[in-house]
Amino acid sequence: MHDPFQGTLPPGQKIDLTNCDREPIHIPGHIQAHGVLLALDPSTLNVLQASDNTLQYLGVPAQAVLGKGMDALLGSEQLDFLSSALRTERLEDNPLYLFTAHVLGSGPFHVIVHLHGGLLLMELEPTRTSPVRQPDFYELMKRSVARFQSARTVSEFCQMVAEEIRRVSGYDRVMIYKFQKDWSGHVIAEDMARDMGLPSYLDLHYPASDIPSQARALFLLNTVRMLPDAQYAPSRVVPELNPLTGKPLDMSFAFLRGASQMYTEYLINMGVRASLTLAISAGDQLWGLVACHHYSARQVPYDVRTACEFLSRVVSLQVVDKGRHEETKYRERMGEVHRCMVQNVARQEHLVDVLTGCTPGVREFVECGGAAVLAEGECRLLGNTPSELQVRLLVEWLKTAQGSEIFATDQLPALYPDAKAFKEAACGLLALPISRPRGEYVLWFRPETIQTVNWAGDPYKPVEIGPMGDRLTPRKSFELWSQTVEGRSLPWVDVELEAARRLRESLTEIVFRRSEEISRLNLELFRSNQDLDSFAYVASHDLKEPLRGIYNYATFLTEDYAKTLDDAGRQKLATVIRLSKRMQVLIDSLLHFSRLGKSPLRIEPLPLGPLVDEALENVESRLKETGAVVSVPRPLPTVHADHTGLIEVYSNLLSNALKYNDKPERKVEVGYVAEGEPGFPVEAEGFKECFYVKDNGIGIPENSKEEIFRIFKRLHPQADFGGGTGAGLTIVKKVIERHGGRIWLTSREGEGTTFYFTLGRE
Ligand code: ADP
Repeated sequence: MHDPFQGTLPPGQKIDLTNCDREPIHIPGHIQAHGVLLALDPSTLNVLQASDNTLQYLGVPAQAVLGKGMDALLGSEQLDFLSSALRTERLEDNPLYLFTAHVLGSGPFHVIVHLHGGLLLMELEPTRTSPVRQPDFYELMKRSVARFQSARTVSEFCQMVAEEIRRVSGYDRVMIYKFQKDWSGHVIAEDMARDMGLPSYLDLHYPASDIPSQARALFLLNTVRMLPDAQYAPSRVVPELNPLTGKPLDMSFAFLRGASQMYTEYLINMGVRASLTLAISAGDQLWGLVACHHYSARQVPYDVRTACEFLSRVVSLQVVDKGRHEETKYRERMGEVHRCMVQNVARQEHLVDVLTGCTPGVREFVECGGAAVLAEGECRLLGNTPSELQVRLLVEWLKTAQGSEIFATDQLPALYPDAKAFKEAACGLLALPISRPRGEYVLWFRPETIQTVNWAGDPYKPVEIGPMGDRLTPRKSFELWSQTVEGRSLPWVDVELEAARRLRESLTEIVFRRSEEISRLNLELFRSNQDLDSFAYVASHDLKEPLRGIYNYATFLTEDYAKTLDDAGRQKLATVIRLSKRMQVLIDSLLHFSRLGKSPLRIEPLPLGPLVDEALENVESRLKETGAVVSVPRPLPTVHADHTGLIEVYSNLLSNALKYNDKPERKVEVGYVAEGEPGFPVEAEGFKECFYVKDNGIGIPENSKEEIFRIFKRLHPQADFGGGTGAGLTIVKKVIERHGGRIWLTSREGEGTTFYFTLGRE
C-alpha cells in the first residue's frame, strides 16, 4: 500500500499517537481518487503539477498535461470564463465552482478552482456521481430556518440540524460533536438510518487526540471535508515539488486533498467507508464538527456539499446565539436563587435557613450533583454529596490551603487526595467561602465525568484491527478518554464562577450586616445590663437607709415601750424586726450582686487546689455541723480566673451541696474532667476543662433546673435547709459568664446533684 506519510516525518520515525499531532496533513503529496487535481501558474495558466490519475479521467498520463496551457485543456469559452473569474472573483483560499465542462474531451467535470500559496489549484470532479437529488436552496433555507427557530437549547437545535443534514445528504449517520475546553469531543446530536441496527454514539466522548490540533486548524480554514471512500487508492501529485515554489503542494483548501492514514483507519475500524465532515465555528474558534458517516462508498456532489455547508454555517451563526440564550437563562436562574436568598435574610434568623430556604435553592444554583451549606456550626447536605464528616474535613483543608475567594476545581482528588474516597460525588468542587476563619462555606459538588457519560450500548466492534492498533475504535478511543479524565468532573464555566462570586459578595455583606447588628445589640445589652446594675446598686444602697430607720425604731419601741404594749403588740413588733433583718440580708445580696458587674475581673493563674481549700474554710462551720466528707479525687489544675470571683463560685456551690442534703452521710466531690477524657460533657465542647461539684443531696426537680439561677428564687420555705436568700446561684452564674464560661447541672431527686461549669477559653 502506498504510504502517505512517507517523507513527512524525520527518517526512521513512525507515525504514532504521540506524533500524529505533527503530521503535516496539508501537504500529503497525494490526493483521493474521486477527481483530478491540477496546479497552475496563475499568470500563464500553465499546468505545473498534476495528480497521476489523469490517465483514468482524462485519457492521458500526467506527464502529458504537465507544462500544457489551459487553452489545450479547456474550450475557449471556458478559458475566457476562467480568466475573468481570476480577475473578478475572490479565489484566494476560497474554492469556487466555475462551470461543468469537458476537459481534453473527457468528462463532463465540475470545475472548481481556488488560489493558494501563489498557485491556482484546479479540481475536476466527474459529474456522474450524484446519488442524491440536487437540493433546492430556497426550499432548504425556508424549511430549515423555520424549523431551527423553534429550538430552545443548543442540543435541541443541533439535533434538528443533524436530521436536516442527513435528509439533504443521505449519509447513514450524522453526528454533531461539540469540543470541550480540552478539545475532547462530545457527541451532542445524532441522526441515523433506523433500519441498519447501528449503535448510537450519542453522548460519547472522544479524546482530543482523535481530531489532532492540525486537523482542527485546517477545519477552521477549510470547513468542508469529504472522503468518498476510506479505502481509496491514492494518486500522487507529480512532480513532488512545485517548480514555481520549490515546495510540496499545499492542499489545505483542496477538496481532493489526500486523507491522513490515522483518519481512514479510524473510519475503517468503525466500519465506516465514507465520510463528510463540516466545521462549526463560533467566532474565530472551532466550536464543533458535523460528522456524516456512510457504511459504503459515497460521494455527494458540490451542490449537496454546499447545502450541507450552508446548514453547518447556520449552526455556526446560531450556536453562539443559542448558547448566549441558554447562558442568559442560566444566569437568570442563578439570579433568581441569589435574590431569594437575599430576601430570605429578613425572614430567617439562621444563616443556614437563609441559604437553604429557597426553591429553586442552593442545590439548583449551579449545575451540580449536590451541595453543602456550612454555617453557624451546622452542616446541611443536599443531593449527592460526600458524608458530613468528609465535608467538614474538606472545609478544614479549604480553610488552610485556599484563600477567601471563590475556589473551583474539576480535579479535586489531584489537589486533595482524600477526595479519591468520594470521587463519585465530588471530583469537581466549587467553594464559596462566607467566613473562612469560622469555616462557613457553601460547596457545590460535581461527580466524576465518566459517571455522567450515558454510555449508549455496546459500540461497534471492528472486524479487523489495522496497523495503528485497536485504539482507533470508538470503544478504545472512549477508554483512552476515560483514562485521561479519571478523577475529573465537568469543568466550571465562567458564568458559574461569576455568579458564585456575586453571590459571595452578597452573602459576606449580609453576614457583615448581621454581625454589625449583633454587636449593636450586644452594646445595647451591655448598656441595659449596666443600667440594671446601677439601678440595683442605687436602689439597694438607698433602701438600706430607711430600712435601718425602721429596724432602729422598732428596736427602740421594744426597748422603751415594751411595758405599754400587750403580748400581741410585742409579737408584732418582733416580726417587724425579723422581717427588716431579712430585708437587710436581701438588700445586701442585691448590692453584692450589682457590685459584681461593676468591678473588673482580675484574671491571673490560679492553682485550684488551694483555692478550693480557701472556699472550704468559708463553709467550715457548716462542714463541722453536718459532718460531711468532701473529697477531691485528683489534684485540680491551675486556671486563669479572678480569685474573688472563683472563691465566690466554690463557696456557694459547696455551701449548697452541704445544705441541701438530708443523708446521714453527706458526701461532696470536687473535681474536673479534661477535654478528650471519658465523661467530658458535650456542653463543655470547645473548652479545655469542665469543673464540677457533686453531692448526694436532695436533688433538684427537672423543671426547676433553670429557675434556681434566678435571683431570690428558692425551692423551699424560707427557714428550711438552714435558710438562704436565693441569690447564691445567680451570683455564681454571673461570675462564670463574666469569665466566658457556662454553668449547668444534672440531678436526680433524692439522689444528688452535680453542678458543672467551664471557664473562659484560653
Ligand atoms: P440559697 O441557697 O440562698 O437559697 P441559691 O441561689 O444558692 O440560694 O439556690 C437556689 C435554690 O436552689 C436553693 O434554695 C435550693 O432550693 C436549690 N439548690 C441549690 N443548690 C442545691 C443543691 N446542691 N441541691 C439541691 N437543691 C439546691
